[in-house]
Amino acid sequence: MTLPGLTEEEHENLCRRCGSSCHWAVPVNGLPVVVDELHCTYLARDPDGRFRCTVYETRFEVAPWCRTAEQALEHGLLAQDCPYAKHRSGYRGKVTLHPRLQKTVEPAIRAEILRTGVPNGASLAGALRFLHRTGPETFKFKYDADNERHMPVVIHDVDEDGED
Ligand code: SF4
Repeated sequence: MTLPGLTEEEHENLCRRCGSSCHWAVPVNGLPVVVDELHCTYLARDPDGRFRCTVYETRFEVAPWCRTAEQALEHGLLAQDCPYAKHRSGYRGKVTLHPRLQKTVEPAIRAEILRTGVPNGASLAGALRFLHRTGPETFKFKYDADNERHMPVVIHDVDEDGED
């Protein structure tokens, strides 16, 4: 589905490849905050800083957590200032904070990840990078009881492997 008055190509070209929709946002004071290291395991970053899906053609087969642009819009999974959300008044999407502000909320983000884990499909290597950058402990991930989320577990033997 394209936006009214746009060709399919014009519609596709609206994408800034900011990667927000392929990052998991962590709620901080009710605001869904994008965390640089917390993203889909299939997301890659090009040298120009823009993001790219490495499995775009087959994403709905290999990444069942992936959503169409319409679904992402419906569920507030696009960036707050996403061009695809411009026509939707009152749209509330994901926010990317200024690095200085992001630093101040990192302890809250860390606490939330320790409490709720990360969802299936998230890059566990990225999530570990965040946890190891923001605190002293070493972690690995274990599935929760429903096999839906990966819960961080502190390890004391740094040679033990984590999942990813
Ligand atoms: S599989 Fe979906 S969520 Fe993952 S990088 Fe590709 S488009 Fe983004």
